[in-house]
Amino acid sequence: MLTNSLGYPRIGSDRALKKACESYWAGKISVQVLLKTGQNIRAHNWELQQNEGITFIPSNDFSFYDQVLDHSLMFGAIPERYHQVILDGKNGELDLYFAMARGYQRDGLDITAMEMTKWFDTNYHYIVPEFHRDQQFKLFSTKVVDEFKEAKRLGLQTKPVLIGPVSYLLLGKEKESGFHRIELINNLLPVYLELLKGLEANKAEWIQFDEPFLALDLTEAEQSAVSYVYATIKKNFPKLKIIVATYFDQLGDNLELAINLPVAVLHIDLVRAPAQLEAVLDRIPDNLTLSLGLVDGRNIWKNDYAQSLSQIQKAIERLGRERVWVAGSCSLIHSPCDLDLETNVKSLSPEIKQWLAFAKQKVQEISALGKIAAHPESEASKALFAANMVDQESRRSSAKIHRPEVEARVAAITVADSSRLSPFSIRTEIQRKALNLPLFPTTTIGSFPQTTEVRSWRARFKKGELSQEQYDELIANETEETIRFQEDIGIDVLVHGEFERNDMVEYFGEQLAGFAFTKNGWVQSYGSRCVKPPVIYGDVYRPAAMTVRWSSFAQSLTSKWVKGMLTGPVTILQWSFVRNDQPRSETCTQIALAIRDEVVDLEKAGIKIIQIDEPAIREGLPLRKSAWQQYLNWAVRAFRISASGVQDDTQIHTHMCYSEFNDIITNIADMDADVITIECSRSQMELLGAFADFKYPNEIGPGVYDIHSPRVPDRSEMVLLLEKAGAVIPARQLWVNPDCGLKTRHWDETKKALIEMVAAAKTMREEV
Ligand code: GLN
Ligand code: ZN
Repeated sequence: MLTNSLGYPRIGSDRALKKACESYWAGKISVQVLLKTGQNIRAHNWELQQNEGITFIPSNDFSFYDQVLDHSLMFGAIPERYHQVILDGKNGELDLYFAMARGYQRDGLDITAMEMTKWFDTNYHYIVPEFHRDQQFKLFSTKVVDEFKEAKRLGLQTKPVLIGPVSYLLLGKEKESGFHRIELINNLLPVYLELLKGLEANKAEWIQFDEPFLALDLTEAEQSAVSYVYATIKKNFPKLKIIVATYFDQLGDNLELAINLPVAVLHIDLVRAPAQLEAVLDRIPDNLTLSLGLVDGRNIWKNDYAQSLSQIQKAIERLGRERVWVAGSCSLIHSPCDLDLETNVKSLSPEIKQWLAFAKQKVQEISALGKIAAHPESEASKALFAANMVDQESRRSSAKIHRPEVEARVAAITVADSSRLSPFSIRTEIQRKALNLPLFPTTTIGSFPQTTEVRSWRARFKKGELSQEQYDELIANETEETIRFQEDIGIDVLVHGEFERNDMVEYFGEQLAGFAFTKNGWVQSYGSRCVKPPVIYGDVYRPAAMTVRWSSFAQSLTSKWVKGMLTGPVTILQWSFVRNDQPRSETCTQIALAIRDEVVDLEKAGIKIIQIDEPAIREGLPLRKSAWQQYLNWAVRAFRISASGVQDDTQIHTHMCYSEFNDIITNIADMDADVITIECSRSQMELLGAFADFKYPNEIGPGVYDIHSPRVPDRSEMVLLLEKAGAVIPARQLWVNPDCGLKTRHWDETKKALIEMVAAAKTMREEV
């Protein structure tokens, strides 16, 4: 049976690419060393997949920063402002590329980076292509051909991977009004044809076009663009064998379109959308081969061979063996590299490790499924299958996973458990009296600078170089200084600074039951930035209080209110690898109960204001609009469960690092947080419009300065923004705060900016 790999992680199992890129940016290594690192990673990945017996091995899945940006460079979609970077001949193509990704500040030039956004519903971020009316494209780089030839020199026949023309356009953004980017298809397609010519000349046979947008809602114009593109390719290159890859959701109403494209192979995601197999098999024409996406590219669980084989069997019965391929569900870049590197039994027990598969292991699974399906009766197949059964059974029957008391508690949740005692209109009066805050109260989002020093304490503590007492004392001192600073400059609601936290999810995961951690499970988030999501393997509960100690310590230092700081259930879920043996909603509800316990304990300890951060609620939205409501129902309910165990006079805040709420404002209001803080400064408060139009009833802190930049704004800028906010939201509902937490900032700029912010709030109070 033929096996197919859609893409392999390019960060390197030891994050070699991250390290090389960062060294290159810091001027510590030459471009040659960086290029060599890339070459080594590609060779390693290709050989690994070849050794595992994968038939279709991808090339052009490598990238120094982002594959969408690679395409923009290939097509010459380089915004005007970057042209200067290579004009004087000092910089090369790679410097231009990095300038687009990261901005450029050198030799008197100061150019901002291109915008970055999430790749569908993953945690990977890509660089958004910029489009203009009548934009012309021209072949600028031949990366895809070069990498194909490079593999050839190593003796490998690879399958070049390209983002399909329609998806490439849809991933981008119009930079002027009056046209839609899909209209550029006629200008863009010739460049694709030129690339295909180069590939064909170099003897490429199979080409994979990723068209993930086929799994999303498409307009008629977009649908016809898809037909037009593949018909044109067929006409120009009748001999090339084209694979169209879809993933992340079902084809749905694009099914007819997809299966009738004049291409050789259609790839479908059967992990996200297993039910679509039947529908596709029912309608598939005789000449189309189906690539079955069975091995989950987005999660870390071992494949269930029995289940996958039954899907493969079903397809073979209808199509015959020649027309069925076995594949990963999507590119494996969303999985960590190699489970074999997890040798620390303390963070990841051998029992749990037995249930997992990272990218390398997933390639082995794809290959194993191919072998078993081809020769079910062979001894080797039987052994592979039996071993998988053992692992599946070990997971199913493990005493580590199910906690009857947790499941019973979830089942017993009542409507009252997800509602505050009184409605906001009553709570707000009670809180006004209890908290006695001025108009335009000032606060921050939680973290204060996580300096190299603070991070070094944690590293030394973990290595055993600092005792628990020594570490705690350092954290206590830093917290106390931060409290004093906030008091000195006159902030109204203080925070403790989050110095004890490594990361807003990991910190909680480490203290909750049901979570495991990897040492090397890195996944690319953007560019050289990687994240290491925790693994939720079992029922979640809270064995002991998690934050009460530091919050009450901070509160004991001051007579002002100190805000307790928690991460919300949806965000913890969203930024973890989640168990796949029960619905995500169920796992989310368990986390919600654990956070609820913490909220109640904070209240008992005298913390009257508690913030439950939910920056990830929006990114959890399903790709298809028709599925939004169901998700929002359980996500909002989970937040409400976490927030509703307290008395009316306890004030619940939430925070989200964006504010494009137009389409979900009803649900945001339904969360019923007493105060919501959001990011607004970069959009000049325009994004507040959704709240104004909706007549959002609760209190809002629209961020008044951008924490992503070291720039210190002055008070008049912030007053201007607050006046803009005040024009659409009544003053008594408004809070004054930065856009997000300050952990990535330095102390000097933080101090200056917050002093200005407090001054701005005072000005506002005088104006009313
Ligand atoms: N409380 C967190 C902080 O201040 C919130 C971070 C976030 O929203 N991503 O860092
Ligand atoms: Zn934020």
